[in-house]
Amino acid sequence: MSSRRKFMGSAAALPFAASAAKTTKLKTPDYFRDLGVRPFINAAGTYTMLTASLMSQETMDAIEYASKHFVHLTKLQDAVGARIAQLLSAESAMVSSGAAGAMTVGTAGCITGKDQKAILQLPDLTGLKNEVLVQKSHRYGYDHAVRAVGVKMVEIETEEDFHRAAGPRTAMALFFNDNNKKGQIDDKGWVKLGKQHNVPTFNDASADCLPVERLSMYNKMGFDLVTFSGGKALCGPQSAGILMGRKDLIEAARLNTSPYSDTVARGLKVNKEEMLGMLVALEQYLKRDHAAEAREWDRRVDLITKAAKKFPSVTSAIDVPEIANHTPHLKLRWDQSKIKLSPLDVKKQMLEGEPSIEVTPSTNKEELVMTVWMLKPGEAELVARRLSEIFKAAV
Ligand SMILES: *Cc1c(COP(=O)(O)O)cnc(C)c1O
Repeated sequence: MSSRRKFMGSAAALPFAASAAKTTKLKTPDYFRDLGVRPFINAAGTYTMLTASLMSQETMDAIEYASKHFVHLTKLQDAVGARIAQLLSAESAMVSSGAAGAMTVGTAGCITGKDQKAILQLPDLTGLKNEVLVQKSHRYGYDHAVRAVGVKMVEIETEEDFHRAAGPRTAMALFFNDNNKKGQIDDKGWVKLGKQHNVPTFNDASADCLPVERLSMYNKMGFDLVTFSGGKALCGPQSAGILMGRKDLIEAARLNTSPYSDTVARGLKVNKEEMLGMLVALEQYLKRDHAAEAREWDRRVDLITKAAKKFPSVTSAIDVPEIANHTPHLKLRWDQSKIKLSPLDVKKQMLEGEPSIEVTPSTNKEELVMTVWMLKPGEAELVARRLSEIFKAAV
């Protein structure tokens, strides 16, 4: 009996121990290559189509940690939300399924509040607030995430329009932060009008977390809800975002999504890995030496520019967008009779060459556009080298 137990014990333990030893020795499989999907160097930027940004080891460690424990999801969301709110001077916060997910759950929350009957009724808006105010110049593709709840977008242009349009049907007033200067009403004006009419204001600042003060600026300004993408410059999980603002609205937003089954945004699920990963990525982002990082971006831009300018007729310009993607965009032009390639030809050759490099989708017939903020150490040198090789073969 005792020898049998011993035998069973060792037999049960052995395969486990052996396979554990094996897996730790095995190298991580080259999954992407095995699938025939080729990774590239990202000289484009934080584009969702290109998987946007990379998470740090600390963030990945947090995700792995989370993956090994069961917790009550609502309690984790409470705790993570409270920490994010504290870090960003918001009254309350939650982790959403990206900024687009934040727009959907935020809108739903503005419509229903905590009224269970209304929550169950969505997307049927009969008898509920069903209009969202927006400046004509702030219409954009992402407002589909607001319309997803079924609301009608009411386009306005002036303050008088806002006064006229705001009423008992108005659920929310949407502001597209990047277009702050493109409408007649700016961010502060929008907040003022919202408060005057008791209409919650929502600022989509998804791609706008530089300079770093911006992360808390719009809460302080008085917007009722603010969203940032988690997976762009913040380098959190690509599928995560931050929704923050008024406590009652965050609570209402949360009631309209997972883990609650019978809700309009049940599909916009966020699990513990994204919640913890988002928090840790944010903490890291706030601790970064942003000035040193900016200097490194300048160095990379300079290195690539110098390599390109060794070739005849090449000129360069550096554009730093004021609000969204506030990072240097290097734009290269040349006389296509001196270097016999168009910028689109160069883009194609960089992508198809070795290593593969993606430049920004805004590259056009006249100029090649790149950013350097998503490059890993040493990759700016590779970009400069590939560009030189391509130019050299075409002069
Ligand atoms: C990227 C982006 C979104 C969507 O963000 P996700 O985190 O990918 O859902 C929404 N609005 C703006 C302005 C964006 O740039």
